[in-house]
Amino acid sequence: MKALVKAKAEKGIWLGDEPVPEIGPKDVLIKVNRTGICGTDVHIYNWDEWAARTIPVPMVVGHEFAGEIVARGSEVTHLAIGQRVSGEGHVVGNTSRASRAGKFHLDPETKGIGVNLPGAFAQYLRLPAFNAVPLPDTIDDELGAILDPLGNAVHTALAFDIVGEDVLVTGAGPIGIMGAAVARHVGARHVVITDVNPRRLALAAEVADITPVNVATEDLRSVMQRLGMKEGFDVGLEMSGAPAALDQMIAHMVMGGRIALLGIPSQPFPFDLGKVVFRMITLKGIYGREMFETWHKMMAMLESGLDIRKVITKRMPASDYAQAFASAASGEEGKIVLDWTG
Ligand code: NAD
Ligand code: ZN
Repeated sequence: MKALVKAKAEKGIWLGDEPVPEIGPKDVLIKVNRTGICGTDVHIYNWDEWAARTIPVPMVVGHEFAGEIVARGSEVTHLAIGQRVSGEGHVVGNTSRASRAGKFHLDPETKGIGVNLPGAFAQYLRLPAFNAVPLPDTIDDELGAILDPLGNAVHTALAFDIVGEDVLVTGAGPIGIMGAAVARHVGARHVVITDVNPRRLALAAEVADITPVNVATEDLRSVMQRLGMKEGFDVGLEMSGAPAALDQMIAHMVMGGRIALLGIPSQPFPFDLGKVVFRMITLKGIYGREMFETWHKMMAMLESGLDIRKVITKRMPASDYAQAFASAASGEEGKIVLDWTG
């Protein structure tokens, strides 16, 4: 089968010919139709420090996908051949306390497809049946392929009660934009999204009825005044990983504000903890998606009018992967979806 392989411990990715994965009794084999390119894949492509210490080579990468079940293991009874699915890329164990309590997203033994396990940038993917998520007809394959990052956005946006609250989202990457769209959909009052990239802010305004602010050129405090906000934001969703964005967020929260952190800083940075203490701010780290509550909620929202399709700005055949990775690395696009059916 065709697959995008991290074949060597150096910058790049290579289209290879790999054997179709063999499945175990609890697995399904998925014929991959569409995949999304994630920032993680760009890190793996660039072979940065994190990738070099995390990714075994050679390995098929990719973890955002949608496709169709073409084979199932002998113990799998709840999924049918021909069933369209996406799936959770975090593969959990069943021995930790968290796992045995059903809190799968807190399992310390978690492994990731396309990170420590063979991934989805391929014509076929092996996945534990437990991880497969059936797609209704209303969610097509390209939306199915971005449920993983939408799930990050939903997990973050729903970390705190945002109904009727003023929400600040820092970082208008694909996940920040989707998080802001979710905040709007579930009934936040003002949703402000910041970035320093005008193209990304323009995309944010196309995807949802939210207020884009370029913090390189605009003053956030005056935007708040214009919106009639007196004290500050009630809830913050940090989606950039930029130290400056977190500082700015903390400075513009209400006393007792709540912040959910999804963005991953590229390195440790100094940070004014005193402000968090004196302003009694809650900080909550968010990783991945809750299994499988996040999946349930995001699919229910998609079926009840949440529309994030415009966050997909490029669709390309998988054979154009080099151009697709260059576009993803440029930081100018929304989601880029590869088609594996050609
Ligand atoms: P992205 O890199 O595409 O977007 C980040 C955005 O932040 C960019 O548009 C950038 O211009 C903007 N930015 C930079 N400095 C800023 C500042 N000072 N103020 C406001 N915005 C600023 O990332 P993405 O794919 O949308 O993902 C969002 C973040 O979430 C990334 O840090 C990613 O690594 C992280 N992530 C975390 C998880 C998790 O499970 N915790 C999962 C996926 C992604
Ligand atoms: Zn991803």
